[in-house]
Amino acid sequence: MTTTIQINTSRIPLNVKYFNNFKSITISSPELFKLGIFKEEISPIHILENDYAYLMSKVPAYVQLYEEFVELTPFSIVNKSSDDRKMKDVSEIVGIAVGLKVTIEGLGVRQEEISKIPTPPKKIKYLDYQFIKNGNSFEVETKGTTVKNINKTVLDIKLKKKNNLKNIHFRFGTITVLQKNIFDGKTIVYLCDDPPKEFEINNGKSETPWHYISALSHLLDNKYYNKIAKIFLKNIKPKLKEFKNKKIFFGTYIFNDEFYLGDFFDFRLNGENIKRVYRGSETKVDTVFKKVTKEQGKHKIFIGIHKKIIDKILLWETLEQILSMKFEQIFQQPSPEINIFRDSDGIIIVNSNNGNDSQIESQFTEDEVKKRMGCFYNWQNHILEACGAPCRSREKIGSSCKIMTTRGNCHFHR
Ligand SMILES: [Zn+2]
Repeated sequence: MTTTIQINTSRIPLNVKYFNNFKSITISSPELFKLGIFKEEISPIHILENDYAYLMSKVPAYVQLYEEFVELTPFSIVNKSSDDRKMKDVSEIVGIAVGLKVTIEGLGVRQEEISKIPTPPKKIKYLDYQFIKNGNSFEVETKGTTVKNINKTVLDIKLKKKNNLKNIHFRFGTITVLQKNIFDGKTIVYLCDDPPKEFEINNGKSETPWHYISALSHLLDNKYYNKIAKIFLKNIKPKLKEFKNKKIFFGTYIFNDEFYLGDFFDFRLNGENIKRVYRGSETKVDTVFKKVTKEQGKHKIFIGIHKKIIDKILLWETLEQILSMKFEQIFQQPSPEINIFRDSDGIIIVNSNNGNDSQIESQFTEDEVKKRMGCFYNWQNHILEACGAPCRSREKIGSSCKIMTTRGNCHFHR
């Protein structure tokens, strides 16, 4: 399903030439999902082992949020949640996705070039996203709401802009007003820029591929992710041998004869779904696993990055070098139970129900789902066990590793 959303530029001053003749955007449901989740957080600098269960949980939680509470009609995006907190979450992530799509199409920028603005050292309000185009710095704030009167939201964006002392060429806001039911009219995105601040040039170029690093934070074991992130952040010369000949990604997927590297997710590993059936009296992971499977069925997801991009990242190439590759957006449904979305950034998302995708099933087996649920169970119950793998250092040969972990083996021995 795709939705066409009207753009309202009446709050953009006439002398601002961006968005001239820009009337609408069209967005599909997989695109709405992908733009929303991957840009929601700042790429972490370091991921702790304890974050594993949280990250495992986050992706299926978002997929489910979209499946259950977001409905697209040809001209509207409907927020179907009735719970206040969920309604806010849904509006927020849809607001991010639509705002980014407006930015991408309106200003002709690629999604890979847009990054989340890091938290400033002083406690001030700041905007959401930044990018550089033709040597100019841009900042954008993306909002989503079901409240039809947007005056308060516009004011909020104005206040955030006021605080900012950096030399930014153009700052603007997007406010997506979602519907609460399908008969509630059309979804509109309001653009605002008030007052406009003219134009100082910044020649900095974005060199770090944050777009992919933020995806990798979900797709790589934290032991590898932390090394890669550190190398980009501190600009340390490459130590390729650390990654050479190692299988650093858990999963691979072949689509149209091309390779993708990444990881798998499952609705049953969404912490909220586990908590819903978990009574505290279960003594075996197997019991919890059976209960969640009965309630959620088998919904597995693969998310991966095109292997050629990974190769470039591991050669520490800049964003510009990575962007020399171009990918076409593809959506396919090989069967009613499987859908595949390959985005223009070379990232693929495969959804498979009831064990129908053989590539996913052969790597992300039911046993593996159960094993990961065990990590979650240990984490939830603060159960730490010694890793137990044989030590490799010379002085300790013959003894077993004593590092405590919730994940079977410690980060040295996984
Ligand atoms: Zn160990």
